[in-house]
Amino acid sequence: MEIFPHTCFLESQGSNLDFGEVVHTDLADGPYSVVLVCEHASNRIPDALGDMGLSADALQSHIAWDPGALAVARLMAERLSAPLVHGGVSRLVYDCNRPPEATGAMPLRSEDYLIPANADMSDDERHSRIEGIYKPFAAALSNLIAENRTGLELMVTVHSFTPVYHGQQRAVELGVLHGTDDRFAQAMMATVPADPPFVTRLNEPYSAADGVAHTLDAQALPTGLPNVMIEIRNDLIKSPSQQQAMADCLVSWIARTLIEFQKGGAT
Ligand SMILES: [Zn+2]
Repeated sequence: MEIFPHTCFLESQGSNLDFGEVVHTDLADGPYSVVLVCEHASNRIPDALGDMGLSADALQSHIAWDPGALAVARLMAERLSAPLVHGGVSRLVYDCNRPPEATGAMPLRSEDYLIPANADMSDDERHSRIEGIYKPFAAALSNLIAENRTGLELMVTVHSFTPVYHGQQRAVELGVLHGTDDRFAQAMMATVPADPPFVTRLNEPYSAADGVAHTLDAQALPTGLPNVMIEIRNDLIKSPSQQQAMADCLVSWIARTLIEFQKGGAT
């Protein structure tokens, strides 16, 4: 069969790559008022990609994932009875908080590291990662939101960031970030907890200008679902007790903010 050789090539080189489980959805007892997302939960590199040309240390570091974020998100999900959608592949393979057209979706560089496996990628491999990783992740989240939209009041994405970036120490400990819809982020900043007193800043260490608002804008904005992105400095969530304390702090803060938010009729 040589009628469509190009099509055959695309299939064999593209969508047939096995990426394993690229998205996980942890359900809780509904009905749900909050949905949680952790795009950078995993540093798993699918077998088909080997080590991507990176050292074991690099693949354990923050360039590959958000250390501690999944543990905090799971603890939050438990306390909020919220479903949690989390990524099953390293963001170095595909960053599920980036649309396919973004250069950071399959980054050539992350902080000081070049990502050899992402240089000179064929169109087929690029296509394969979009179809095999990004689209299933986005579909899992959008389906969950659609199925529960009536009762949903908020979407929260949970991330962590490195305390030292390009050799510079970061003072910010908690970042509250927004995309196009800033309502809930502003409401959270109006109710920042005094205890424990984290250094909390709006749109730090990143902001929508860095392209980090993709999930917020693509998944929550279309139906007007209030949304916020939380960035946690990862040295604050290394141990299970730190993760529990952070989850408790965030859940109480979010619950308090939701009450104020609804009083204001902002939903
Ligand atoms: Zn992240």
